[in-house]
Amino acid sequence: MRTAIMLFSLLFGFIALPVHGQDDDRFANVEIKITPIRDGLALLTGQGGNIVVSTGADGSFIIDDQFAALSDKIRAAIATLSDQPVRFVLNTHFHGDHTGGNENFGLAGAVIVAQDNVRKRMSHAQFLETFKRDLKAAPAAALPLVTFSDGLSLHLNGQDVRAIHVAHAHTDGDAMVWFEQANVLHMGDIYFNGLYPFIDVDAGGGINGMIAGVDKALTLIDDSAVVVPGHGPLSNRAELVAYGEMLRGFRARVAELKQQDKSLDQIIAAKPTAKYDAIWAGQFISPELLIGFIYKTL
Ligand SMILES: [Zn+2]
Repeated sequence: MRTAIMLFSLLFGFIALPVHGQDDDRFANVEIKITPIRDGLALLTGQGGNIVVSTGADGSFIIDDQFAALSDKIRAAIATLSDQPVRFVLNTHFHGDHTGGNENFGLAGAVIVAQDNVRKRMSHAQFLETFKRDLKAAPAAALPLVTFSDGLSLHLNGQDVRAIHVAHAHTDGDAMVWFEQANVLHMGDIYFNGLYPFIDVDAGGGINGMIAGVDKALTLIDDSAVVVPGHGPLSNRAELVAYGEMLRGFRARVAELKQQDKSLDQIIAAKPTAKYDAIWAGQFISPELLIGFIYKTL
């Protein structure tokens, strides 16, 4: 458990960090890498959740913005792709490794867009029970100006961009973002590529929503799609299918034991997910944590 939490802090950082980055030194050596995708879309990686940027005649649009301390570097990376300012930021969910730059981009004039519950959660301090951490309320300028319930479309740079809410998945405010013409789908933290996912059950997340999110995604995309996970490298339909099968199989094993009235500790001790652990448990969320998330939400 302790190792998992330490790795979690290292990789994702948000639990240790309020929205204002106090320990900016942590980010001093972070470089923002640009990976072109297609049709004016690119992946930006630094530290925190994967960013997709769309550039073109209508201006720049980003999905998620990592940490406040990285905003200048993110802006500099975008400036190599376009001389247009960032007009819109869309947050896939409220966690600080995806929304930490909101205040900076918002004060610079970008309109921040997210699902209703993102604004609600960012407006108030949150307690992350899983990691026993307080998350501070975000400053006003960081809050989404435009919110939506089930979905919203943007029409930019030759793309119809669909933000699609998935209920009770990684949190209660997740949105996937689908670039129809480019056939590119950013899934936010519904998809951790190559890793067991974090399910924020304290913020309304649950295993059934995670599976529903993957199923919804698979109805949108074909084999030529580029799938962007919240964390991990760019992916595709086949890998997303494998991830969905893992989630479904993992859920079934935990559900079976819970139905036999086994306690959480007994289920963990039975190592019911050993066949998945070798592939998915490597670097982030341990099997014990994922069993706990699923047990709590079944
Ligand atoms: Zn997250």
